[in-house]
Amino acid sequence: MPVTSISVLGSTGSIGTNTLDVIRHFQAEREFEVVALTGMNNTELLARQAIEFNAQIAVTANESHYSALKSALAGTGIEAAAGQNALVEAATRHADWVMAGIVGIAGLEPTRAAIRNGSTIALANKECLVCAGELFLAECRRSGTELLPVDSEHNAIFQVFEERNRSGIERIILTASGGPFRTWSTDQMAGATPKSAASHPNWDMGIKISIDSATMFNKALEMIEARHLFAMPPDAIEVVVHPQSVIHSMVGYQDGSVLAQLGSPDMRTAIGYALAWPVRGHVPVERLDFTKLSRLDFETPDEKRFPAIRLARNAMQAGGLAGTVLNGAKEAALEAFIGGQIGFLDIASLVERTLDDFDYTNSELSIEAVQDADRRSRSMVHQTMAAA
Ligand code: NAD
Ligand code: MG
Repeated sequence: MPVTSISVLGSTGSIGTNTLDVIRHFQAEREFEVVALTGMNNTELLARQAIEFNAQIAVTANESHYSALKSALAGTGIEAAAGQNALVEAATRHADWVMAGIVGIAGLEPTRAAIRNGSTIALANKECLVCAGELFLAECRRSGTELLPVDSEHNAIFQVFEERNRSGIERIILTASGGPFRTWSTDQMAGATPKSAASHPNWDMGIKISIDSATMFNKALEMIEARHLFAMPPDAIEVVVHPQSVIHSMVGYQDGSVLAQLGSPDMRTAIGYALAWPVRGHVPVERLDFTKLSRLDFETPDEKRFPAIRLARNAMQAGGLAGTVLNGAKEAALEAFIGGQIGFLDIASLVERTLDDFDYTNSELSIEAVQDADRRSRSMVHQTMAAA
């Protein structure tokens, strides 16, 4: 088998470390050459990873960590670099397979750089599609890029979505765990702290996506992500709360069949699927034991306590830059919540207000317009907070 060259954007995060773990296991049967590994603040981990995998280059997005990274890699022959331009430059270096594992819109430019290379993209960084879906997909088509969804729901749908029977697909059903506050009252949620919001019942993920699960903004982003990935109309995208996180998502066909993908809540299955694609590799995750699964529950999401679902539906109907605005406002509000400046329920209120007040006129679809809408929606959140 030929050597596969790979890069992992966001290698120090939850998706990134899981990706390197899958590579460790696959190395028994296949040879990999690591081109670029990138991180932000955890320089020590980034350097350790670069040395273990003998990467060509390690990049920290944070320029102030450059000297620490450089000295940690001294004498290894591994290049060290820092800053946004270096990140994009590293993503431009050819790799057969690239994990897009940066969190937030910060991942858009490096991932686009990897697309222009024609690399196969394993996409965890859902914000690329939420913020710039049509442009992003057009770039993939132009470069002949294979886009493999890694988000567990989208990976599940990808596995059971019969492209050859597309016209027979009625709906896709995204499952949601409901997060740590699924059974909390609105009053309890009003007093939630970043720590309680970040403790996800089933999945072990980065802090931002964990809190996004508590507000259900993660599901909101995933609805928009699914709309772009699978080109389904907004009203064919459903969400069902499934607290056990065993069914990762489903596709419903016009003959009444529903196909689902199941597995343990472990991202290495989706990552391994994307890395082995189009065949399947061996991934050492816990196997489902059906005799121990006492029950599988399903509930309708409560849109009063979790307005994110309604906001996503509106944003999908509106199209254009609404996804960018929803994400930009959500990222700004989330940072304010993590920083202790606002309460938990304020996150959704700030996003709703920004979506309502945003001036969408003259918003042509371009990357510059996306970046501008992202900046404007963040500053609208800050202005609303300052006026409160
Ligand atoms: P994380 O916070 O654990 O890791 C994020 C990575 O991006 C880190 O390597 C960090 O150094 C890097 N990074 C952060 N800010 C950056 C910036 N401004 N510029 C450059 N690099 C930056 O996040 P995660 O949980 O691994 O999530 C990564 C992406 O995958 C997100 O889009 C998330 O929604 C998606 N995702 C994650 C999971 C999961 O299980 N963690 C599941 C599905 C989808
Ligand atoms: Mg997901």
